[in-house]
Amino acid sequence: MLDALADLAASLAVRGSRLTLVPGKSVEVIPKLSALLGGARVLAHRWVEPFARERDRRVKEALGDRFTLYEGETLLTPGSVRTQGGGPYAVFTPFSRACRRELDRGVGAPIPPPPLIPTRAAPRQLETCDLPTLDSLGLTRNPRVIAGGETHARQRLDRFVAERLSAYPTARDRMDLDGTSRLSADLKFGALSIREVYGRVASASARTKSAPVREAADKFLSELLWREFTHHTLWDHPEVLRRPFRATFEGFPWRDDERALEAWRQGATGYPIVDAAARQLVLEGYVHNRARMIAASFLTKHLLIDYRLGEAHYLKHLVDGDWAQNNAGWQWSAGCGCDAAPYFRVFNPVEQGRRFDPEGAYIRRYLPSSGPS
Ligand SMILES: Cc1cc2nc3c(=O)[nH]c(=O)nc-3n(C[C@H](O)[C@H](O)[C@H](O)COP(=O)(O)OP(=O)(O)OC[C@H]3O[C@@H](n4cnc5c(N)ncnc54)[C@H](O)[C@@H]3O)c2cc1C
Repeated sequence: MLDALADLAASLAVRGSRLTLVPGKSVEVIPKLSALLGGARVLAHRWVEPFARERDRRVKEALGDRFTLYEGETLLTPGSVRTQGGGPYAVFTPFSRACRRELDRGVGAPIPPPPLIPTRAAPRQLETCDLPTLDSLGLTRNPRVIAGGETHARQRLDRFVAERLSAYPTARDRMDLDGTSRLSADLKFGALSIREVYGRVASASARTKSAPVREAADKFLSELLWREFTHHTLWDHPEVLRRPFRATFEGFPWRDDERALEAWRQGATGYPIVDAAARQLVLEGYVHNRARMIAASFLTKHLLIDYRLGEAHYLKHLVDGDWAQNNAGWQWSAGCGCDAAPYFRVFNPVEQGRRFDPEGAYIRRYLPSSGPS
């Protein structure tokens, strides 16, 4: 997030403007700032998270018509994709078909930034602050966390489309390869618009004559729609952050086993692929998607530990930690979520390692002392 803000500040500066930071709570600072600027309009992006909705409701209450929310976090307005009966979808495939019908009409090309942005001086009464740096927060940079911000995000998107897209359907599952886009944190923090990413890959697909590239693009767009599904689900069911989507899982007799939980967190279960995932999380703030599924299945289905404990641990360490996607990933893995893996589908960690890390390279990267798997 700090990288993204620094990048935004630099691109505003190039256009003769600047990023002004005001310390405080947004529900207090934003109405005050609007008043100091003579009743200025406030424009913002909608977020689906329940606390963000509450923040927006309170700012709206203070500013009335001077506050306008735009879409930006999702491809389609949350709450707008409905079944024939008028309700939210609880199954991914028909949801994604309904989205595609809408998106096939075009997602709209991104509007280029204006060359100059006229900017007023910040009112003198306003207390502002500098953009914090890691140094000023007393932190050192972890070189294994990938650099954030729009410039890096756009480079990642370019590289993905040019070099990785065509192999995506198979490479995406290989934990030992860099087969995915690595755009999750960029999408989380809005360093890159989801519409831009969707539009770029959809148009690469429309331009190509190669059927495999079209199929690969389709697979990638489908993953973006999984993201969409999780955000729309959280919009319609904010309670999933507290309890299972499927009511039959309320009161499930999870085991209370602090030692097993700690071994899972530390990467000391003795199952190399599960332990490698635990170490990747803490070392890089990121875990490969397949490793997330294996680790989550192990915690909830082998150890029978409440998915909410894994969810909280992931949210604490992930650079791309997102309330909608992380919750959906955990509930899917535990079998209690919206369109989840059934409770009897248990990932076999050894078999998964053989198939998706055939040389054991992923395991050795994070557990250097282990031999070939
Ligand atoms: C237990 C668990 C927890 C997860 N927590 C998060 C999280 O906090 N934040 C997060 O962004 N993703 C989460 N995911 C989904 C997925 O693992 C990551 O989005 C993906 O690994 C990010 O890498 P990438 O950008 O290279 O993915 P790519 O394969 O390049 O996918 C492109 C984009 O599609 C979206 N996407 C891909 N797979 C999924 C999925 N299964 N569900 C929802 N969206 C998806 C992401 O925005 C991703 O950036 C979680 C999955 C599981 C099983």
